[in-house]
Amino acid sequence: MRISKRVQSIKPSPTLAIDAKAKALKQQGIAVINFGAGEPDFDTPKNIKDVAIDAINSGFTKYCPVAGTLEIKNAIINKLKRDNNLTYAPEEIIVSCGAKHSLYNIFQATINDGDEVIIPAPYWVSYPDMVLLAGGKPVIIKTSDKTNFKITPENVEKAITSKTKAIIINSPSNPTGCTYLARELKTIAQICVKNNIFIISDEIYEKLVYDNFKFISIAETALEAKDITIVVNGVSKAYAMTGWRIGYAAGPKNIVSAMSKIQSQSTSNATSISIKAAVEALSGTQEYVESMRKEFEKRRDYIVERLNKIDNISCAKPEGAFYVFPNISALLGKTFNCKTINTDIEFADYLLDVAKIAVVPGSAFGAEGYIRLSYATSIENIREGINRMEATLKS
Ligand code: PMP
Ligand code: GLU
Repeated sequence: MRISKRVQSIKPSPTLAIDAKAKALKQQGIAVINFGAGEPDFDTPKNIKDVAIDAINSGFTKYCPVAGTLEIKNAIINKLKRDNNLTYAPEEIIVSCGAKHSLYNIFQATINDGDEVIIPAPYWVSYPDMVLLAGGKPVIIKTSDKTNFKITPENVEKAITSKTKAIIINSPSNPTGCTYLARELKTIAQICVKNNIFIISDEIYEKLVYDNFKFISIAETALEAKDITIVVNGVSKAYAMTGWRIGYAAGPKNIVSAMSKIQSQSTSNATSISIKAAVEALSGTQEYVESMRKEFEKRRDYIVERLNKIDNISCAKPEGAFYVFPNISALLGKTFNCKTINTDIEFADYLLDVAKIAVVPGSAFGAEGYIRLSYATSIENIREGINRMEATLKS
């Protein structure tokens, strides 16, 4: 049977592929240091796990409402009020199987053939492919470390056409960790309001910000911004719950209801047990979030300092997420161990083959000449990994 054209237009997630490769090598007994994984290395906090165990034991194991129980919707509503000063009604909230699924549903619910979606690059790997799967056209705005990987209002105005339907804002960003200030978001929001463009605000790294940075949602920055914004968030990163698969979206009722219709014909509700656990994550003690955040901040300081000491590598210090995105373009064209490295993809392959460290090439994120390292791994692993990188590049 022939595979559909839609599927042929996309590629498998490169981040998941590299993570799988690193894990497979480890299973073969090869001591790979994995900077590829985009998931916290911490365990899910015990209070959250206990609630899930109670849910199983008490028989909360049946279908529940497609868009989520009222209990989880209320927990999300309270979270959005408490942390973001945003007010939503239950009909404006939908819980899905991870923020990835929320994003997928948003594109399926809003994009018609040929609709354009503006995506700032470097972007998270799944955005363009999800837009393509929905029949849309990704319109990429390229940025570099020279502008801290941020788009400007002029960039946005220039990218807008009569077909522009939406823009994706991901702050703090995967892969760069770059984080927008309130006034920067406000200007972008005002342009979107003026041009009737939806904002898809992926806020999954909201809780992981450093140097006393104050996170703000674009939905709260400008008059009418909330009316045109779909906020996407989840429990994967802040609560170390990547495997539980709970994400959510908050936005205009008609879009949320369309997403719910899609979900009713695809996955139905997200896992009932995980929903209970997510209620505890969002409503219970937040002390573990803070201790994980502090640990990430230490690792960020360490990895940035070490990377900048390596010849021909320069690394900006990001304010958020758990990634660094060093510029390695000065290394390209050089020869190591008789092998000339011409692209970031070759560089990433070389690091895995020779130094046994897994990183993701910048090209996967629409940014050639960079690599992404996730510091969601212990300081000892970071030290060992960077030692190996240094030694390999000296040869
Ligand atoms: N958005 C971004 C920017 C991410 O890095 C991730 C993590 N893969 C997601 C969304 C999806 O997260 P999840 O599906 O685990 O909630
Ligand atoms: N967000 C993570 C990453 O970028 C997880 C992998 C994925 O879903 O792409 O590595």
